[in-house]
Amino acid sequence: MTRVYDRRMPTPVRLVPKLPLVAALLLAGAVAGGVVAGGAQVGSPAVERATMAAAEAERAPMIETIRELVAIESGSHDPEGLRAIADVVAERLRALGGDVELVTHDDPYRMVDTPDELGPTVVGRFRGRGRGRILLLAHMDTVYRRGQLAEQPFRISDGRAYGLGIVDDKSGVAIILHALAVLRALDFDDYELITVLLNGDEEVSSAGSRTLITELGAAHDAVFSCEGGGADDRLALATAGIGAVALTVTGRASHAGSAPEQGRNALYELAHQVLQMRDLADADVGIKFNWTLAEAGARRNVIPARAQATADYRVLRVADYDRVERTVRARIRNRLVEGTTVEVAFERRRPPLEISPASRALAAHAQEVYRETGRSLRVSDQAAGGGTDAAFAALESEAPVIEGFGLVGAGAHSDAREYVELDSVVPRLYLLVRMIMDVAAGRSPAVLAR
Ligand SMILES: [Zn+2]
Repeated sequence: MTRVYDRRMPTPVRLVPKLPLVAALLLAGAVAGGVVAGGAQVGSPAVERATMAAAEAERAPMIETIRELVAIESGSHDPEGLRAIADVVAERLRALGGDVELVTHDDPYRMVDTPDELGPTVVGRFRGRGRGRILLLAHMDTVYRRGQLAEQPFRISDGRAYGLGIVDDKSGVAIILHALAVLRALDFDDYELITVLLNGDEEVSSAGSRTLITELGAAHDAVFSCEGGGADDRLALATAGIGAVALTVTGRASHAGSAPEQGRNALYELAHQVLQMRDLADADVGIKFNWTLAEAGARRNVIPARAQATADYRVLRVADYDRVERTVRARIRNRLVEGTTVEVAFERRRPPLEISPASRALAAHAQEVYRETGRSLRVSDQAAGGGTDAAFAALESEAPVIEGFGLVGAGAHSDAREYVELDSVVPRLYLLVRMIMDVAAGRSPAVLAR
């Protein structure tokens, strides 16, 4: 059974460096090679030309798909909208020849913001006749609420398409659909399996889909996650892990004027705890730790019986979750106010995506492929800000996991400023298709075996 990333179970610590499973596959495949319609070899100029032509033919249909997906409001807290978009996307995957299932999530990892009802996850499986198992990820949900669409509909202006969720991550869903269409147009089925996972709970830390993403990540040879490719045209190899610590102090209420000595001041104890845990950040290993929320008491003239505080923290290594949690548990034993109790709860909202030799090598191959479009591709190995589902996919896997295969764009979570560059549709489509073909056909062995 696949272990679950969950506070109920210890987080697995990697004892061996990630081995590129895909390397052996690719080495073997280098001899066999992949063949597209007409018998041309993957990696040959003829195939490059055919792939580019097929990507160009998909440009207008893909922009139309983005328009269609943006027009379906699908906030993480909008189960109706999420079911609607899941149905549309599932139908598209079926039409492309996939076996499709809608997975519901009845027993999610509960966090403070976990919706009562989560949207389904769409899983599409495409079986080929060759080797190589590739997992493609994107998410259908957005941070927006129902009704915003009317104020900010899809529009195109100066080579950019604007819309709610357009870069995060509707165009990621679209690029997967159209990459599959390009493969179909090329008659390319020289892979064992392409699995598409499109979830509806990414913006609420994948409360329901996280286990499935981790399981599927472990069952594939390469994972391409299709969040946006940044304003600067890049892939990402590392993303931050996000955690939260919630402290609850219980004391005893009493009249602040006539009998304060009979009270147990939960606010004093909370202040003590927060101050004695203000140094848990560790810049050397990339741990950021900050207390960000606090509340106590209900009336001015009552000794507060209850106080709560929450810290937000970020880690770059899975093992640092354990370290932070251990430290907090040890520190809270040191009390200021006798007669109070201190409880702690931890949320592991999203693990970090750790860079691996396999992902670094495969990203270098992606840079070579991208040059064929006349553009250059950046590869970011510094975790910035937010986390993504790529990290769940990598949690139990030794396969390369790369984030950022969506379109070039920016403005995620900023409503009116969210956009994608339409000029990036063809090159990004070409890149994703070629990466699928090359992993399947074993064309990047030199890169991975180095
Ligand atoms: Zn996203």
